[in-house]
Amino acid sequence: KVRVRFAPSPTGGLHLGGVRTALFNYLFAKHHGGEFILRIEDTDQTRFVEGAEQYINDCLAWCGLQPDESPEKPGAVGPYRQSERKPSYRQYAEQLVAAGNAYYAFDTAEELDEKRKEEPNFRYSHENRLQLRNSLSLSEEEVAELLASGHPHTVRIKMPADSTVSFEDMIRGRVAFETGLIDDKVLLKADGMPTYHLAVVVDDHAMHISHVFRGEEWLPSAPVHILLWDYLGWKEEMPQWAHLPLILKPDGNGKLSKRDGDRLGFPVYAMNWTDPKSGDTTVGFRENGFLPEAFVNILAMLGWNDGTDQELFSIEELIAKFSIDRISKAGAKFDFEKAKWFNKEWIQHTPNEALIPSLQTELREKGVQAEDDHVAHILSLVKDRMTFVSDFWEHAGFFFQTPTTLDSAAVKPKWNEDKSAFFQSMAETFGAQSDWSAAALEPLFKGKIADSGLKMGELMLPLRIMLVGGKFGPDVFVIAETLGKEEVIKRIQNGLQ
Ligand code: GLU
Repeated sequence: KVRVRFAPSPTGGLHLGGVRTALFNYLFAKHHGGEFILRIEDTDQTRFVEGAEQYINDCLAWCGLQPDESPEKPGAVGPYRQSERKPSYRQYAEQLVAAGNAYYAFDTAEELDEKRKEEPNFRYSHENRLQLRNSLSLSEEEVAELLASGHPHTVRIKMPADSTVSFEDMIRGRVAFETGLIDDKVLLKADGMPTYHLAVVVDDHAMHISHVFRGEEWLPSAPVHILLWDYLGWKEEMPQWAHLPLILKPDGNGKLSKRDGDRLGFPVYAMNWTDPKSGDTTVGFRENGFLPEAFVNILAMLGWNDGTDQELFSIEELIAKFSIDRISKAGAKFDFEKAKWFNKEWIQHTPNEALIPSLQTELREKGVQAEDDHVAHILSLVKDRMTFVSDFWEHAGFFFQTPTTLDSAAVKPKWNEDKSAFFQSMAETFGAQSDWSAAALEPLFKGKIADSGLKMGELMLPLRIMLVGGKFGPDVFVIAETLGKEEVIKRIQNGLQ
């Protein structure tokens, strides 16, 4: 049975990389009819951020990636928050010590800080562990005494001095690590909480995880985890590993980060707390007007393609087509301009009815009340110019509000008595017109120009500016039809003042 997990730490907002990890887990699970589990890795209390777990839930919901099991929806292998699983970890740490694969370390934080000051490259490892205060260097009696006296201690893994750990990564193929180069990671902290390394292995085992998809930044930790699976006697049940490629800046130069500017590093949606990592980030993809369908599509293409030129995929299609052999090893470039293209495409593909609620919200904010049908009609006129839902007002606001300023620079230099007189009389002609369709208005207007002896080009633009306020918008006669007779006449009169 395929069971995968997304295991974020509630330390801040989710960024692109985090949600992409969630998505790839989800797609793999759903492709194989398996289960997608959310586990909150909150063992590092110093980095805990209030509200971050809710944020994770909301992000997944917004993206449509509903977990099958989670803290909110527990399955049979809970709890789904590591802090609530605390009692289960110590026994495994003790088991590792008893088998000689881990040891108690009694060095205090101050002692270790001191060492690091003396020796900037200090690592607690097979090279120096016998010179430090732990159950490998001290006598049995000393260890027993320290434990009995309640001396604070951690449990560290005993990395083999001279061995190689290798495994088959589903994306990268065979990967090998020299264990002698890896330090003796802490497994259990002095406060009794496990570190990530111990918790992740114990929980992936307890939750019957079959495949692990996670960011490439976790690759250096993989040998530690693999040793733990082995030492705990679970080697047969070890999940298969897949380390996803890094997400890079658009020029491919280095990893994407918050420092690259808010657009590149911003989170899925605005956070209402101060993110300790990135500072107070208040704008996210969601606020920027990205549709969840587009956002998911963008994420899917960060390191995956289906082997053709197709770029637009719905979530259903992604589930159907997702395959590990189409995930690239190379870093995936994130380009905000390309992201905008995806959103524009998705807006075009989204039925008008589905966009109406957010357009109505925006209109209400502008103090405009309009029927859904009317909004839908106007949307159909300007949709092809919209990259974001929020572009609607810029392109269509004039349909709902009489323009207060006219781009007179565009017409005024060539303005004269004749033209004023033309529009005056045009307003009267319009007033007498009964068929108010674009198809009738166009010949009416053009015929009148022909009769006046003025030039077509000199009057079409002024008409547009009077109706729209600027040099943009769809066909001017369609605009006139949509605005209605009364409003058109009013706007012409305004324009003549
Ligand atoms: N808690 C880790 C994180 O924040 C999980 C890494 C993993 O998937 O093993 O990304």
